[in-house]
Amino acid sequence: MLKPSIFREYDIRGIADEDLLDDDVVLLGKSLATHLIRHSGRNICLGRDCRLSSPRIHAALSKGLLSAGANILDIGVVPTPVLYYAAVHFKSDGAVMITGSHHPPEYNGLKTVCGPATLHGHEIQQILKLIQDKDFEEGPGTVKELDAVTPYVDEIAAQFNFERKVKVVFDSGNGTAGPVLHRLIKKLNIEAAELFRDMDGGFPNHPPDPAVPENLKHLQDAVKKDKADLGLAFDGDADRIGALNEHGHAVFGDMLLLIFGREILSRKPGSTLIGDVKCSQIVYDKLREWGGNPVMYKTGHSLIKTKMKQVNAELAGEMSGHLFFADRYYGYDDALYTACRLLEILSKSGQPLSAQLADLPRRFSTPELRLACPDDQKFAVVAKTAALVAKDYSIVDIDGVRVPFEEGCWGLVRASNTQPVLVMRFEATSQALLTKYRAYLEGIVEKAMAPATS
Ligand SMILES: [Zn+2]
Repeated sequence: MLKPSIFREYDIRGIADEDLLDDDVVLLGKSLATHLIRHSGRNICLGRDCRLSSPRIHAALSKGLLSAGANILDIGVVPTPVLYYAAVHFKSDGAVMITGSHHPPEYNGLKTVCGPATLHGHEIQQILKLIQDKDFEEGPGTVKELDAVTPYVDEIAAQFNFERKVKVVFDSGNGTAGPVLHRLIKKLNIEAAELFRDMDGGFPNHPPDPAVPENLKHLQDAVKKDKADLGLAFDGDADRIGALNEHGHAVFGDMLLLIFGREILSRKPGSTLIGDVKCSQIVYDKLREWGGNPVMYKTGHSLIKTKMKQVNAELAGEMSGHLFFADRYYGYDDALYTACRLLEILSKSGQPLSAQLADLPRRFSTPELRLACPDDQKFAVVAKTAALVAKDYSIVDIDGVRVPFEEGCWGLVRASNTQPVLVMRFEATSQALLTKYRAYLEGIVEKAMAPATS
């Protein structure tokens, strides 16, 4: 029987050989097809990543989709953004990606597109309900195999014409980015070295998550050895990017958002740009100073994409490395396209990556800090934290608790939607203030986590 816990906020995900057995996946295929047919239509693009469990899940999912009458457009093993691209290019009614994204090799899951939006929240719960009610469409269904990579590579390459060569090292981490990136590189005027291009679902060189600094060690060494202008890494399904400057220091998603935002505002003043609650305050202050309309929003790729359409944003970015361009592109998170946009900015400026951020005020910040907290308690702990902090400060409660302490200093506590953890982050104008505010907020969280005493 399917565990309700695999139906998550942004996707369906679990341990492949425990939570996603063949019979379960057939049911998921039937329910996803039923939902898509009733809300959008029966032409469904289907892609999969290079995980060891993906061929098995692909076979079972296809069986379920077909039995509900879906017309499958099968685009094979691809990065998630190529699946998003295929849904636009082939004008399909929906799309399903079999991927464990940046999670360890034993995981797998499904990301689903219905019409123009990505399924999330209550819609994912509706998929579970269809299975519980055995409420499925029936029909013969068809399968057609299509090449989405060729039009994808051609269309992206056609956008970029680099006059000055940038020197870059890529780390595809044995994920699905490698082969597609290799074809893209050949069409671009850049000097590129490629690490771990071959796909291997065992991820033998490092885990496929560029948001974790240890996973960027190979790239860091290569950037320094090659004297490259920057290094770029991709997660397992290439919807997240990780960046290193020429010194090998990590440049997180919020700073990339700032670099891209400045370029867009130089052409389109007044644009709306979205960042998630984990982003530096500098992002919001500078984007406003440069004539933009910055909006702070919740973390989560499905939520951000929906918000972008609502407020007509040109660009959005998450601290975790999801960047979404509506400017010149289709608005979904595509780390390969993001890489091209960054190379374009460096090529035009003739300066390495660190120079793009050189004029910003100095800030002291922590990375994302994770504190274990059970799934059934994490939201209550955050609510209690909010109530306690509100006695001392006015809070921002878009997603968790963000506390603006004083000019340039803030702290965040939010419940992760993907793991049994609380995520915290701090930024301040000095190391002393960083330590002070971190100790304050951590003290409050500790109080909120303590069992109630009567
Ligand atoms: Zn991913």
